[in-house]
Amino acid sequence: MTLPQSFKASAIMPTVAEIRKDFPILEQQVHGHPLAYLDSTASSQKPIQVIEAMNRYYRTTHANVHRGVHYLSEAATTAYENARLNIARFINAPSPKQIIYTRNTTESLNLVAYSWGRANLGPGDEVLITEMEHHSNIVPWQLICEITGATLRYVPITSRGELDMEALDSLLTEKIRVFAFTAMSNVLGTINPVEELVARAHAVGAIAVVDGAQSVPHLPTDVQAMDMDFLAFSSHKMLGPTGMGILYGKRELLEAMPPFMGGGDMIREVKMEGSRWNELPYKFEAGTPAIAEAVGLSAAVDYLRGIGMDWIADHERRITAYAWERLSEVEGLRILGPGPERRGGLISFVLGDVHPHDVAAILDMDGIAVRAGHHCAQPIHDHYCIPATTRASFYIYNTEEEVDRLVMALYKAKAMFDL
Ligand code: PLP
Repeated sequence: MTLPQSFKASAIMPTVAEIRKDFPILEQQVHGHPLAYLDSTASSQKPIQVIEAMNRYYRTTHANVHRGVHYLSEAATTAYENARLNIARFINAPSPKQIIYTRNTTESLNLVAYSWGRANLGPGDEVLITEMEHHSNIVPWQLICEITGATLRYVPITSRGELDMEALDSLLTEKIRVFAFTAMSNVLGTINPVEELVARAHAVGAIAVVDGAQSVPHLPTDVQAMDMDFLAFSSHKMLGPTGMGILYGKRELLEAMPPFMGGGDMIREVKMEGSRWNELPYKFEAGTPAIAEAVGLSAAVDYLRGIGMDWIADHERRITAYAWERLSEVEGLRILGPGPERRGGLISFVLGDVHPHDVAAILDMDGIAVRAGHHCAQPIHDHYCIPATTRASFYIYNTEEEVDRLVMALYKAKAMFDL
């Protein structure tokens, strides 16, 4: 395990100030103000350790993987496969063969929906998802239900922004073949009880597919303890590069599934009459993969591990509780979702009847980057009968001072709109 450079001296307890030194992008001014980056739920920033690992790879190691006998091809293959092993260890997967490289969470979820779904779903079967899903855990299931004739059902949410567990009881019948849900909502911040939901799915014979896009970057993850059948997540939300995602799956399920895409590397043999598939994980990795991105994600995993996922979860709990308290004091501001004790590091809100895009534009003038819109989760906005929200989100490099600046800028917005 490589500790991030700046923590070698202090080794155990990093400070946010030390962490920030590793993120060159945070040093800049935006519209004459220091950048306050409160948009990590959309995509996190990258530490120099990740940037340098990718730079070093391209300067010294790059060639195509798995195909050559020359020195560089072997070195690139080793870097690519070591990254897979490192990622497997990060989530406690039993084997790197169960780590499939994809482009992002979206592709990971599509892979399961199409590959597992085409082989296992038919008329009379049901797929269960929740009202708080990101579009990437809704649309693939809508599409596969259309193809297979299965029926899609949704677990509703309560007025507190949590899954309605009583409704879940009645929905989770033996017709359900797959229960796919987010570990953490990207709009409400709600942290779902993953182990309990997985156990309930298994009790009716369904498989459990977990969207970990918002949980893996922020909370400790142990796929064996949690027992999910599939877990999807994105590198770019956990300090790694874009263009890289992971699908973890249970081995027997992955073995039994047909390939998702066809092409080079995913085959054992191709004849004009037909083809045979490569072993795991390559069966699901057609074509030249994102090699430097795998190296970058591995460096990000080292960085997160160096800080400690428990430290990260604690830091985010503290800063979210502080932000919750300060934002709750702003008259006319409505926060969506549960209290700070049951949510991850993000807060979505509406400010009176000001359009969230206007709020975000005003904050931007003060150098504060937040996101506004439906956050690719329209059904949950429909639930609250609003088209959009403004969302502030927090990660390892955010400070309470940035929260204070957010609140001050919101008062400015209120004054501008006479609220
Ligand atoms: N699921 C959740 C909960 C998300 O927040 C996101 C992205 O915001 C995704 C899935 C999709 O991630 P990606 O765009 O990296 O595929």
